[in-house]
Amino acid sequence: MRFSKRMDNLAPYLFAEAERKIAEKRAAGVDVISLGIGDPDLPTPQYIVDEMRRQVADPANDRYPSNWGCAEYAEAAASFYKRRFGADVDPKREFMALLGAKEGLAHICFSMLDPGDLALVPDPGYPVYAGASILAGADVRYLPLRPENGFLPDLDAVSEEDARRAKVLFIGYPNNPTGAVVEDDFFTRVVAFAKKHDIAVVHDNAYSELTYDGYVAPSFLATPGAKDVGVEFFSFSKPFNMTGWRTGFAVGNHEMLEHLWRLKTNMDSGMFDALQKTSAFILNGSWDFVHEMCAVYARRRDLLADALTSVGMKVPRIKGTIYMWIPVPDGYTSGSFCDHVLEQAAVVITPGRGYGPAGEGFVRLSLTTPDDRIAEAVDRIERSLKL
Ligand SMILES: *Cc1c(COP(=O)(O)O)cnc(C)c1O
Repeated sequence: MRFSKRMDNLAPYLFAEAERKIAEKRAAGVDVISLGIGDPDLPTPQYIVDEMRRQVADPANDRYPSNWGCAEYAEAAASFYKRRFGADVDPKREFMALLGAKEGLAHICFSMLDPGDLALVPDPGYPVYAGASILAGADVRYLPLRPENGFLPDLDAVSEEDARRAKVLFIGYPNNPTGAVVEDDFFTRVVAFAKKHDIAVVHDNAYSELTYDGYVAPSFLATPGAKDVGVEFFSFSKPFNMTGWRTGFAVGNHEMLEHLWRLKTNMDSGMFDALQKTSAFILNGSWDFVHEMCAVYARRRDLLADALTSVGMKVPRIKGTIYMWIPVPDGYTSGSFCDHVLEQAAVVITPGRGYGPAGEGFVRLSLTTPDDRIAEAVDRIERSLKL
């Protein structure tokens, strides 16, 4: 068979190799603990499941939904953005339901980018930004996220020519994979940069609700001028343990959303109204569950940080997300350290290099594994490092 050329340009799926190795070990009877993929281990809370049951049983939800999303969902999202972030969203023009944030992040590349265009992509970064830009035919310029800059991209270091060519800038804070959070004026500088060079901003807000030690994450959209230049993607996946449900939304610049909407009317037929109404119900409801999840992840973070620090690793105490981004010990690359930990400790961690060239020298550990398994994993890693 003959396939499209665009497939040849794609990097292999980040977790494909790891999944193969894990399967091999498990088939051989090894008890492998995965701190690899970020997929919450705890179930979706019962109050959400109960609401979904009610919505599924309602025949009013059986038919094709609108591609923009239903009014209940749009209004709930707008009121959530006002209440939580102080950001104004017009539910009729500045909201769109998405089948998860990933779907929107990927599709917006096709409504924004042509072959030969340039996308500015954080490095390390969530792999979809570069992957979907490349699928759309665009070139990717990596903006390195370095510890000395707090893992924020240095916009002043973007060359004049790249800034002129670039059409889209991807950012996302709290950040996957570095766990970094923004400093006060960063979003303001992003808006100024985007206006100066006519670049559209896509802010990936998958983690604003999962933060620790009293830190409260802002929305990019609350920045003055943000809606003139960009959109923000919100996801229920991580804060509400709903990765399998596929629900999220985009808010922000109308023109960007209108183009995304037109594209999507050719791709899918919207999100199940029962799920949209359940998503609205979640936004309008109590945040107690999310606070409980934050306590769970903060506890796991401390467990990992204390243990790994005691064997000489440098472990920053993240203020947000469900990931720890840790420099590998001397003498290892990110790949060789992951291999060591898998072979000697049967623990899966992710090489930073998989998130872009600047990820070399780091590994990512995910907090989405039960406490006792994390405790067992750190025991084993400690022993493997003392070998
Ligand atoms: C998990 C994750 C997503 C995916 O969200 P979905 O709503 O499940 O598609 C998007 N962005 C980042 C940075 C993530 O870590």
